[in-house]
Amino acid sequence: TTPRQYINIELLTEALRTGNIVQFRNEFLDMHPYNQAEFFKELDEEDRLNIYHYLSPEEMAGLFENLDGEEHEYREVLAEMSPSYAADMLSNMYADDAVDVLNELEKDQVVSYLTIMDKEAADEIKELLHYEEYTAGSIMTTEYIAIVANQTVRSAMHILKNEAPRAETIYYVYVIDEDRHLVGVLSLRDLIVSEDDAMISEIMYDRVVSVSVGEDQEEVARMMRDYNFLALPVVDFQDHLLGIITVDDIMDVMEEEASDDYSKLAGIADLDSIDRN
Ligand code: ATP
Repeated sequence: TTPRQYINIELLTEALRTGNIVQFRNEFLDMHPYNQAEFFKELDEEDRLNIYHYLSPEEMAGLFENLDGEEHEYREVLAEMSPSYAADMLSNMYADDAVDVLNELEKDQVVSYLTIMDKEAADEIKELLHYEEYTAGSIMTTEYIAIVANQTVRSAMHILKNEAPRAETIYYVYVIDEDRHLVGVLSLRDLIVSEDDAMISEIMYDRVVSVSVGEDQEEVARMMRDYNFLALPVVDFQDHLLGIITVDDIMDVMEEEASDDYSKLAGIADLDSIDRN
């Protein structure tokens, strides 16, 4: 069921095998990371090893975020890369996606990657690795945009422009006070339609819906659906902003939960058939 129309398999494979780096990069980097991942999944080890030479760790990061790997896939693929290439790639991934990958590895492997990774990225990932599985904290990302209320729309737009390349979503901007308490929210749309001289404190919405860091991920999915937001902020018990969960993270959760429920049902069906026999 993969949409193949945007993957020119023949051309890519040919370029990969004949060592035509320029042609390979031209075609490959033009593809959506999902399509890149779909192509990558079909390759054998020799071709994959070529790819690590043709793409920078940063370029590989986009593909990897879309891999949706099984445990062994992540492990095998990472083991094929040189440790420094793998670490660079992990540094360039969104922290929550990197955590998903690291959670599939052995503990000593995780530690060894974290020690050679970019320090800032490693620190972010270490924070996230502390949270219990299936909680809001375990699926949130720390790459959000937060601003203070006491400034104009003009200066907020300036911050947004600077931070946008690193944020997982720029659609919502969260407003915090000096102690990082979450005090308001604005959408990018709200900002764009406001006067440049308007103060953020005047235009922000202060009844922010948030989830607590220990909240069950199923509950987060439910809230996301009920409120129809593209992201939800995650806070601690004193309302400090810790991260955000975006709707695409939640889609992964829903898929997981659906297949869990399905296996439970399958289990019940099996019991039924045993009873009857
Ligand atoms: P509408 O839903 O009216 O069509 P829209 O498509 O722009 O508008 P969003 O932009 O997703 O919808 O959200 C609308 C409003 O919700 C925005 O003004 C935004 O500031 C606000 N908002 C976003 N996140 C939260 C939140 N966590 N809690 C409360 N309000 C929020």
